[in-house]
This record gives sequence, C-alpha cells and structure tokens, in this order.
Amino acid sequence: MIRLCVPYTGEEELAAIAEVLSSGYLTQGQKVAEFEKAVAEYVGTKYAFATSSCTTALHLCLAAIGIGPGDEVLVPDFTFPATANVVVQQCAVPILVDIDLATFTLNIKDLESKITDKTKAVIPVQAFGLAADMDPIRQLSKKYGLAVIEDAACALGARYKGVQCGAIGDLGCFSFHPRKSITTGEGGMITTDSDVLAAKISLLRSHGGVRRQSRFSFEDAGYNYRLSEIHGAMGIEQMKKCDRILSLKHKLATSLSEKLSGLEKLKIPNQPNYARHTYQSFVVLLNEDIDRDKVINHMYAQGIETTIGTYALHLQPYFARAHNYLPGAMFNSKAAFDRSLTLPLYADLSDEEMNFIVETLKNILNDKGVVRQQ
Ligand SMILES: *Cc1c(COP(=O)(O)O)cnc(C)c1O
Repeated sequence: MIRLCVPYTGEEELAAIAEVLSSGYLTQGQKVAEFEKAVAEYVGTKYAFATSSCTTALHLCLAAIGIGPGDEVLVPDFTFPATANVVVQQCAVPILVDIDLATFTLNIKDLESKITDKTKAVIPVQAFGLAADMDPIRQLSKKYGLAVIEDAACALGARYKGVQCGAIGDLGCFSFHPRKSITTGEGGMITTDSDVLAAKISLLRSHGGVRRQSRFSFEDAGYNYRLSEIHGAMGIEQMKKCDRILSLKHKLATSLSEKLSGLEKLKIPNQPNYARHTYQSFVVLLNEDIDRDKVINHMYAQGIETTIGTYALHLQPYFARAHNYLPGAMFNSKAAFDRSLTLPLYADLSDEEMNFIVETLKNILNDKGVVRQQ
C-alpha cells in the first residue's frame, strides 16, 4: 500500500527521546525551550510557544486576545473543523467565508462582505501549505481593527512574498501532527512578535500560574496546553531536517505536477507568484463530471491511499444545525469539498511509486465508470 504520508523520522529522534527518558525530566523544560528557539529563529518571530497541538494553539490565541461571547471571528469554510471549533469554545461565533478555487484560500470579497461591528478577528488558513493572499487580509484587518491569527498548521516553511508563514499575522499557529511539515506525533506552536500576547499566552498555557519563590500564584483561569520534553526533543531533531524535507517534497511536487499537467480531467495545485508552497497535501481538483469518491475507492483497490482535500464546514452537521447554513451557501467551498483529491506525497516517495500513482490515476480517470451519475 502506498500511504498518503509517511513521517520522515529516524535514529536521531529515537536517540533524543531515549536521552529525555534517562534524564527523568519529562514535562515542559529545556528541550521544549530549545525547540521553541529553533522555530522562532526559523519563522523569524520574537517568540514561539510550544503547545500540545495546533488546535490548542489556536484556542490559546483566541483566549489571549480576549475573544468572548458575542464576538464574531471570520474563518474560511474550507478547512479542518478545528479552525472554527476553537471559536465556538470561546462562546464566540465563527462566521464562515468562501474560498477561491484556484488556491483553496480565503476569498477576499466574501471576507470583506462578512465584516460587522462584532467582528474581532480573522483566521486565514494557509491551505495545505499555501499562504492566503495576506496583504489584502492585513489591509482589511487594519481598517476594521481585527486581529489576524494564521492557521499555519500545514505551513511551517511556507512563505508569502518572502516572509515565513507564522510571521505575517499577529499570531501564527503550527501543527506537528504526522501529516504536517515536521512531526512530534502530536504537538503545536504559536509564533508572535507581540510582548503583550506572549505574556498572556505563557500565563494561560500552564494553568494561569506565575511562580513566586516556592509556589505558584494563579493569576488567571488557564489551561494545561504544554508540550512534553519527549515531544520537544523530537521537535529539535525534526527542525534540523525541516529544510531537507521541504526541498524533497518541493521537487516531488514539481515532478508530480509535470506528469499530471497534460490531464484534462483535473487541475494541478497552483503556486501563485507570491508564494512558496509546502505541499503538506498535494491536492488536485477533479472536473465536475468525475465522481471523486469512486476515484478514491479505485485508487485504494490498486494499493494507493488517497483522500478528500478537506471539509466544507457549512455542510457538516454541527455548523449546519447551530448556524443555519444551507447546503451550497459557500459555492466554491462546496465544490472543493466535492471535487478535491489528495494524492500521496512525502519526502521518501520513490520515482517508481510516483509513476505508479500517475499511471493508475490516468487509467481510472479514463474509465467511464467514474463519470458522475446525473
Ligand atoms: C491539522 C490541522 C489543524 C489541527 O492541527 P492539530 O495539531 O491536529 O490540532 C488545524 N487546522 C488545519 C488547517 C489543519 O490542517
């Protein structure tokens, strides 16, 4: 079976974890601090705070900027539900925004039309490792006084006009889930240049406690969103490999795009001039007349794991029920949800495997059995 993604880990991670275990110091400490320093340097921000996941990172950001009941937060409709769930967890309202099909990122017109006097923040998703068009988003956020939190879960190493994702908004959030640029199994990171937000994040990440000599003083009702030393040690080793992983994936993505570019039945992923893509996921858009789910099943039968791109939130039962969205309220997002297909792509994917993926996909798309029934 060709897997969708295989993490790029080895002896180095194993040795680093063994060292932590033998030290007997397992919770957030020196290793996490070193991992944070590596990420802050890489992204180019003053601060980086490790968290237990990108979801807790996003939630911590909303708590730190004081998002609360009645506030509205703009979120792209085409994303993993975590981006919007964290808004609900703060008793605020996620306002779903349509995307552009060419990039799978926020549609700027729809974004502006949904700003109200209750809007407090926007969470642009750097979709599959491709930055949204951040300049107009920043202009709107300035004009209307909105905080910008980048959901850069898939975008460690992605750039927008030369600037690293995570260093563009007020806050950036990364994931170290096994399908992202680098992995610690589970894990996340917040990046920021803001002294005020950094202090708040640091406080809320660990129970709201401040150490005063022999004990803590609890200054806020915080969380435990810390990362362990075991994960931290793994993160340090992964950061050393980050550029290698990304350049291997870039080469593979370029080659895969070339091999697929002649096919009329799909669109290859776009990399606008402003961006450097990480290809966290290599997502193609199938033509309307192709039954995407049948393609996934046929690929699987041939030993190739593929999946959808991601979810249209307004079509998910919770958002439809709680926020009264009608099916197709976000046209491009619905199209992306119905027609996107993620192909396997990871640093160790071989040429033979890639050729097999391309040939198999070509054969399946030429099969009349995958034409959508009207
Ligand atoms: C993976 C992902 C998340 C969640 O990250 P976790 O670390 O698994 O919590 C959030 N948003 C997007 C866009 C993602 O791809």
